[in-house]
Amino acid sequence: MRNEWFVIYSLLMIDLNYYNGKKLEDAHCISLKNASFLYGINCFEGIRGYYLPGSRFLNVLDLDDHLNRLGNSLEFLNFNVNYNKVIIKNEILKIINDNKIEENIYIRLTYFLEGEGSWRETENIGFTINIRSIYSDLLNPDAIQLGISKFLRISKDSLPPFVKAGSNYLNSRYALLETQRRGFEGALFLNNNGFISEATGSCIFFIKNGAIYTPSDDSDILLGITRNTILKLAIASKIVVNCVLVPLEEVDSFECAFLAGTMAELKPISRINDHILDINHPVFMKLLKLYREYIYGMEV
Ligand code: PMP
Repeated sequence: MRNEWFVIYSLLMIDLNYYNGKKLEDAHCISLKNASFLYGINCFEGIRGYYLPGSRFLNVLDLDDHLNRLGNSLEFLNFNVNYNKVIIKNEILKIINDNKIEENIYIRLTYFLEGEGSWRETENIGFTINIRSIYSDLLNPDAIQLGISKFLRISKDSLPPFVKAGSNYLNSRYALLETQRRGFEGALFLNNNGFISEATGSCIFFIKNGAIYTPSDDSDILLGITRNTILKLAIASKIVVNCVLVPLEEVDSFECAFLAGTMAELKPISRINDHILDINHPVFMKLLKLYREYIYGMEV
């Protein structure tokens, strides 16, 4: 019985795949000697589309910002590809229109090395677009417990975290699995200098005395698009904003903390190591409401 329900549900899920602009109807194989597969050499963006039931409008959130960041990643990886943001944007919007998508989606746009060349290859770049259904818990987000990872965040001098490269997630994987073994649900990174950096797939914010704090741009973070939106929303509603270096010792002084990221959305943190945090803090609740309004253009 359980399996039957699973089959029915999975048939209803959106899962569309495009390879170099062409729709894939079936599974596609890449070579076992492909360098992106063998060495994790790729860069990508994860983008959410929010659908407000009844509105007939799907908001592909901050698509231009994602495409700009992807352009920077491609450049940093020396991927010589004719990357045209307008063409890619139109392609994504066309897929959404052609498929009459009316639900929340996650769009993954990935650039990688084609064929069987070396990891040093700079030409012969392909791209894929995957669009699939995704759940949003922005109305009532679950809290998460984080442990400070024993693994440090990769640094700008070795594997720059501001490049959204697939291989960076090996660092995230080590940290997540290590903290989960110690009973936490997620991991928080320190950088090489002992400052709070970010979580494994999202940026972090803290709240104290009515003000918000987030690790500064030079804290070895991915410059999160959600982080940027929260900063703008906070400033517009006169909440004091501090983008600063956050020493580990300061964590115990915060009243509240939350994650911010495309996948994580806004997620309250109930505990960091032994420090218990308020998951219903009024400043967090206000930002959550403002973020929902930003997405849907209205109160939901
Ligand atoms: N940091 C890391 C390591 C991430 O993977 C992500 C998710 N892209 C973020 C932060 C949040 O970035 P954004 O808000 O742009 O999704």
